Amino acid sequence: RKIGYAIVGLGSYATRQIMPNFASCEHSRIAALVSGTPEKLERYGAEYGVPKTHRYDYKSFDRIRDNPDIDAVYIILPNSMHAEYTIRAAQAGKHVMCEKPMAVSVAECEAMIAACRKAGRKLMIGYRSRFEPHNRLAIDLARSGFVGPTRVITAEHGFPIRPDQWRLDRPLSGGGSLMDIGIYSLNATRYLTGEEPVEVMAMESTDRSDPRFKTVEDRIDFLLRFPSGVTATCVSSYSSAHNQYRVIGTEGWIDMEPGTPYEGHRMRIRKDGQVADRAPPPMAKNQFAGQLDHLAEAVLTGSPIIVPGEEGLADLRVIEAIYRSAREGRAVKIAA
Ligand code: NAD
Repeated sequence: RKIGYAIVGLGSYATRQIMPNFASCEHSRIAALVSGTPEKLERYGAEYGVPKTHRYDYKSFDRIRDNPDIDAVYIILPNSMHAEYTIRAAQAGKHVMCEKPMAVSVAECEAMIAACRKAGRKLMIGYRSRFEPHNRLAIDLARSGFVGPTRVITAEHGFPIRPDQWRLDRPLSGGGSLMDIGIYSLNATRYLTGEEPVEVMAMESTDRSDPRFKTVEDRIDFLLRFPSGVTATCVSSYSSAHNQYRVIGTEGWIDMEPGTPYEGHRMRIRKDGQVADRAPPPMAKNQFAGQLDHLAEAVLTGSPIIVPGEEGLADLRVIEAIYRSAREGRAVKIAA
């Protein structure tokens, strides 16, 4: 059986990346659409064969409760709306896939996890790179010490942001580059080590005279210390183009540039004095279909979710510490 998803928010990521990829899913299908814009409901409803009875707006959203065709919702809204719609979906008895960042605070993440637990429903965060073959291989190689035990990680993510969008409006975004794109640097350091950072030091660089950065940060660079002694040096930026990470071990390095794009990943490895490209074994599904089917399989078979709400919460814990460190100009310890 295929599980039915209600897509909540028909913006760019939903319509350009997620919805087209249901075609290659084995266990997932689009069952319903939720949007505040009637024209979008009409257009995408027709395109994906979603009947009028399965189209909702934000007022009628809670009526998904009465639609047994919907097993799960996929929340692809501005960041500060993730908590509310996750909780409402759980209360309507639905499983939840929620985009990154999970929410805009640790407290919201905890409330989301509690609501899904209380309703007996699954909660997964849209960390698509965990379903992408180069990233999976990088995790295996880094954790098995292929270039020797990991000592240092560098991770950089950023893009020059266009003005006039919710990402630059703190009440909707919850923060600037770190919430949106720097989170990829942070998340990579956590999945490459399999550890939680214990200390962070951060420095923000934002030109407040730039009209884009009235309420959110541009650059925030941060240093993380992990229990094994690994340190990670990370860049998060809304004004420069980066998408890469490098794992440096005692005997070489694993480099991913680009590291977490939608497609076109490249891995290079330096070992025994030689640098060579390395291609992972191909996977049957791309990262988007893999992610969608992962929640579907968990719903259908009870298999574990590798990126549950607790993963989103762990990132938000570090994000709050990064902001605090930058604000207070000192290193901040993170409680285990
Ligand atoms: P977007 O602006 O293209 O889409 C957001 C949608 O939310 C729009 O359709 C908009 O109409 C709707 N919306 C509803 N209420 C709104 C309000 N009050 N203000 C503004 N918009 C409102 O944004 P997007 O790029 O699709 O991002 C949506 C979410 O997906 C974000 O949380 C983002 O971090 C995440 N995202 C994830 C990835 C990824 O690779 N995993 C990529 C892009 C975006």
